[in-house]
Amino acid sequence: MTARVLVLNAGSSSLKYRLLDAESGVAEASGSVERIGEESGTLKHTVEGQEHAQERRVADFEDALRSSLGAFDRHGPPIDRDTLAAVGHRVVHGGDLFAEPVLVDERLLGTIEDLVPLAPLHNPANLEGLRVARQLFPDVPQVAVFDTAFHHTMPAHAYTYAVPAAWREEHGIRRYGFHGTSYAFVSRRAAELLGRAVENTNLVVLHLGNGASAAAIRGGRSVDTSMGLTPLEGLVMGTRSGDLDPAIHGHLHRELGLSLEEVDRALYRESGLLGLSGVNDFRELEQRRAAEDADAELAFDVYAYRVRKYVGAYYAALGELHAVVLTGGVGQHSPQLRTAALSGLERLGIVLDPARNEAEARHARTVSADGSDVAVLVVPTDEEWEIARQALAVVRSATERRRD
Ligand code: ADP
Repeated sequence: MTARVLVLNAGSSSLKYRLLDAESGVAEASGSVERIGEESGTLKHTVEGQEHAQERRVADFEDALRSSLGAFDRHGPPIDRDTLAAVGHRVVHGGDLFAEPVLVDERLLGTIEDLVPLAPLHNPANLEGLRVARQLFPDVPQVAVFDTAFHHTMPAHAYTYAVPAAWREEHGIRRYGFHGTSYAFVSRRAAELLGRAVENTNLVVLHLGNGASAAAIRGGRSVDTSMGLTPLEGLVMGTRSGDLDPAIHGHLHRELGLSLEEVDRALYRESGLLGLSGVNDFRELEQRRAAEDADAELAFDVYAYRVRKYVGAYYAALGELHAVVLTGGVGQHSPQLRTAALSGLERLGIVLDPARNEAEARHARTVSADGSDVAVLVVPTDEEWEIARQALAVVRSATERRRD
């Protein structure tokens, strides 16, 4: 059976795709459609190192997906539907229902729809992507890979919020966690780099991209993570606040007359680095900090301190730690952040090597000193490859089951 998988990642107003070999990870083509539904959208398709870009209005997801397939027809490679093993979809919220990726059928679409209240921004877009892809590739198996699935192994003491029983039991109010495909990929790669079996490896993984979260991973299984019911909790992010006093909603409502929606919106879109410094992009923040912009300095410090606190908390949760692993754009490319979050922790056995930490590289690598009890690793994540790998595994095991 072919290992060729088309991965689709439908966001609230964007669609990203990659056609790749799920075994080798080698991509044949990738692309994106941004600003779907707005006056003008951007379509990009990259094949053999060459980017083909186009600006035009993209009405909806169907238009976006049809246009993307059109780009394959025009610029290649041809997607002969018979040669596709699967279409793999990123689905953000699987609630507590999905510990594994699953084959998509009509019933599953209904279940994902039922989970919309838990992820009102993300799940509707993911659903739309699933529906349109099923129409366009009726004979190709479609697999949903959930961001929450990896955290299914969290123990009750980690996922339970101390709130009334009815909220927990009837309304699914608990920690779910996200970035699961990234954690699955990165923890496997980190164990390889350490030369250890995943089953015997304890890691604190820091996924620091536009969204950011931390996870405590014992033997390849998540035991705690910083995002919660929604992707708002935990670390400071580009535009999201992360942790704060839950009484803030009520306070702002009473004192400023803000509606719950207004507070929600501000915490999701106008907070984090943006709220603190006026910019949400970490690279830009570092440039401003280098120019001694006081807001940028504070934003950087708040961000780094939050990361540091989670490292300490998850070290304690795990008891024994083999490595701290950084990934995502910030984790991979900011030596300053790594230093600010992890220096001065020698008594915990965490010792960065300044030269290794400063060296810019794209591959997975060690940035701790040789004598560091706890390794510090930088491991580029690859969520699309992980989705493709998981999608292929589901399709292969379904085929084998049918054969038996
Ligand atoms: P996403 O979560 O959307 O996948 P990424 O993982 O690509 O995003 O991370 C994006 C973040 O990484 C941005 O804040 C960006 O500024 C930051 N970043 C990328 N490269 C660098 C760099 N060289 N130095 C510091 N930050 C960087």
